[in-house]
Amino acid sequence: MGIPIPEFKVLLYGPSFHAAGIRARAHFDGESLAISAHNGSFLVPSHLITLRTGGFDGRQWLITWVAQEGTYSAMLQNEAALRAFVLLAPASIGRQLQRIRGGRARNGRLRRFALLLLALLPLLGVGLYTFQADRLKQWAATRIDLERERQLGDMAYAQIQPALKPLDRGVTTAAVENIGNRLTAESYYHYHFHVVVDPGINAYALPGGHIVVNTGLIEATNSAGEFAGVLAHEISHVEQRHTLRKLVTALDWRAVLGVALGNYSSGLWIDMAERLGHVAYSPAQESEADLDGLDILRRAEIAPNGMETFFARMAAKTDATRPVLLSVHPAEEVRLAALRATIVRQPRDDVYPINFDWELARSGL
Ligand SMILES: [Zn+2]
Repeated sequence: MGIPIPEFKVLLYGPSFHAAGIRARAHFDGESLAISAHNGSFLVPSHLITLRTGGFDGRQWLITWVAQEGTYSAMLQNEAALRAFVLLAPASIGRQLQRIRGGRARNGRLRRFALLLLALLPLLGVGLYTFQADRLKQWAATRIDLERERQLGDMAYAQIQPALKPLDRGVTTAAVENIGNRLTAESYYHYHFHVVVDPGINAYALPGGHIVVNTGLIEATNSAGEFAGVLAHEISHVEQRHTLRKLVTALDWRAVLGVALGNYSSGLWIDMAERLGHVAYSPAQESEADLDGLDILRRAEIAPNGMETFFARMAAKTDATRPVLLSVHPAEEVRLAALRATIVRQPRDDVYPINFDWELARSGL
């Protein structure tokens, strides 16, 4: 065995790839970036590389280059990949790194400006705030970084935890974690999958990566693929920051500014989880979670049909057994049709079965 080449994981986007991106590994070979994916490899001279920030909240690092057939970009998938990239990048990329870090310093100045604004708000008057409330909240939401979002999620989960009855650890919790980890292998978030004893057919996500799964949902799914589909939908509410925006919408404006500025010291958080429960996702967010959920399934190499068959079966229920999940996730015909159309368009290669018996997984209930 030789010495392993120091490398980092990326999600690769390009003209010939599926829009969800493909998993790839990268390392530097002298002055060139070498990327290998299952269907080919690239060697990109570093002078062709442009670094920029982008991704779902504008904070991910993207390595981009233009080839004859179009533009490629490789997204650094997590903090470890970012650290490895910074460590391994040749000096010629150093200048670009400095420029991006300069951009981060400007964000620091913006934060100080926001602090000043917070101090002045009482003087500016409540009228101004009321007029600008939504814009101010949305602005604040974009300023919340992943670490603060995680803290918020932990606080919200701590509030609901006393009312939850966790299922004893065993085959069922192991199966949920197995599927959850497979779906979130590349995420920036650290997920916690909490299985709770509750007959309601439901699962819900909190900001920062806490996902609560009722035993009732596990009972109602006919296969590991169906369960993975519902879980992928919930995960995408976190990945797309719908849960965070929902929380920001529900919160008091002082709490919103407080969280944007990293101030958790006030008592404004006491009913956070309760407020969160009263705000629904928008229909547009639900559709986005469906389609992004399909991308999550695809990247995890899990067949996408399960999400559609489960939502369709639940939507057909008109009696009292119609699940709680659907009061939050209206699975109307339009949404199901969009799901079916997208699934039909997806190629069926690179899909691998989930390797365990769902009946066995459910035997722990
Ligand atoms: Zn949803």
